[in-house]
Amino acid sequence: MKVDVLIVGSGCAGLYCALNLPKDKNILIITKDIVEHSDSYLAQGGMCMLKDESDFESYFNDTMKAGHYENNPDAVTTMINSSQDLVKDLIGFGVDFAKDEEGNLLFTREGAHSQKRILFHEDITGKEITSHLYEEAKKRDNITIKEHWTMVDIICQEDKCYGAVVKKDDENLTVINANYTVLASGGIGGIYRHSTNYRHLTGDGVAVAIRHGVKVEHVDYVQIHPTTFYSEREEDRSFLISESVRGEGALLYDKNYKRFTNELLPRDIVTENIKAQMKKDGTKHVWLSMRPIEKEQLEHHFPNIIGHCKEHGYNVPEEMIPVVPAQHYFMGGIKVNLQSKTSMNQLYAVGETACNGVHGKNRLASNSLLESMVFAKRAAGEMTAEFDSTEYRNTENMDLSPYSDLKKWNKENKEILLEAIDKGE
Ligand SMILES: Cc1cc2nc3c(=O)[nH]c(=O)nc-3n(C[C@H](O)[C@H](O)[C@H](O)COP(=O)(O)OP(=O)(O)OC[C@H]3O[C@@H](n4cnc5c(N)ncnc54)[C@H](O)[C@@H]3O)c2cc1C
Repeated sequence: MKVDVLIVGSGCAGLYCALNLPKDKNILIITKDIVEHSDSYLAQGGMCMLKDESDFESYFNDTMKAGHYENNPDAVTTMINSSQDLVKDLIGFGVDFAKDEEGNLLFTREGAHSQKRILFHEDITGKEITSHLYEEAKKRDNITIKEHWTMVDIICQEDKCYGAVVKKDDENLTVINANYTVLASGGIGGIYRHSTNYRHLTGDGVAVAIRHGVKVEHVDYVQIHPTTFYSEREEDRSFLISESVRGEGALLYDKNYKRFTNELLPRDIVTENIKAQMKKDGTKHVWLSMRPIEKEQLEHHFPNIIGHCKEHGYNVPEEMIPVVPAQHYFMGGIKVNLQSKTSMNQLYAVGETACNGVHGKNRLASNSLLESMVFAKRAAGEMTAEFDSTEYRNTENMDLSPYSDLKKWNKENKEILLEAIDKGE
């Protein structure tokens, strides 16, 4: 099979990249599960936007401070300055961000933000955005989406990428040749026992990049979210209690129902404080109280979270809920420039699998949907501009025997990733 652009992953990064490519290019998006099963659909809190010029400095500083000043300042500036255009685009696709009675956009706040600058749709902002991108992609004749098609490896020869080896839903392996390949394969939570991510997100893009000597960066920068719902039940995925709950006033308590931290510190610090408190108290969780939030606001803004707590027997906000930190986000990844190009020609990486330096050592809340889409569009722009200079090579007759044992291949991928995380590559 031959396409112009192969996109691996159907989260907000992959879909938005496809939507920004010319309509005369033949685009194939493959996805390991169904489209609705991506972390983009799980995003609760919201998406940051530069409200007006007067907030630039404060937004920039909040992002840099949360990232321990290890961020790439050019990437941060690019992201912030592109945010208003992205929001216009999304509204054009039908995304419905919360508004006040006069129709003005409403903003909420999360930890480490010194201002309210986060757009939201109840507590299902990611679903609202990504489902509209998906609807738009389905309308385009030049975009084909294949569910349960898994990228096994990328095809790289003489420093150029020519597509990927893919396992189709019928279990057969196939070669997909492309002028450009875009890795939009999301995070690495699936390799951790406790994570808020979908289990099939196992950092495949990063692992195959390492196999082919494509540069990666800060692979050890893994974010642990301070507050996921603690459950005695064996759960597939840890349920996130969004930081915007704390942004709106929710408070953390120890086993003696005493506060022990400022709830609005950056994520990594709140996580450290919770872990230290759990160790001191000998407990498996701490408590979160949503009482300080007005009941009406709570029901209006966080229906999904309240529903989950009720399902588990907690009558919110009257009762506190047990929360515990869990793996959440991957700041490192495949090293890319501001156009999302990797160190391999004709290979791009966008979204959580890429590292353009926006997040530094610790991501500021609600910057990742924004970052994913801003830099996905930039990748599309560069591919469009340079398409005619690409080289295409038919590799359909390549030897597929190295992939005959996919269990072993995937196990090796996990080991490669864990080793890179250990070494801090
Ligand atoms: C619970 C939760 C809440 C969050 N809340 C927020 C928030 O409020 N605001 C915010 O900005 N960010 C939030 N985030 C982070 C944000 O959702 C993600 O960083 C972002 O959606 C990543 O988008 P993506 O397109 O890169 O990856 P994803 O949306 O995860 O998509 C990855 C895609 O790659 C596919 N894939 C993976 N491997 C392969 C393979 N080998 N072959 C084929 N396909 C493959 C997957 O099937 C999937 O389609 C949250 C994350 C979680 C988990």
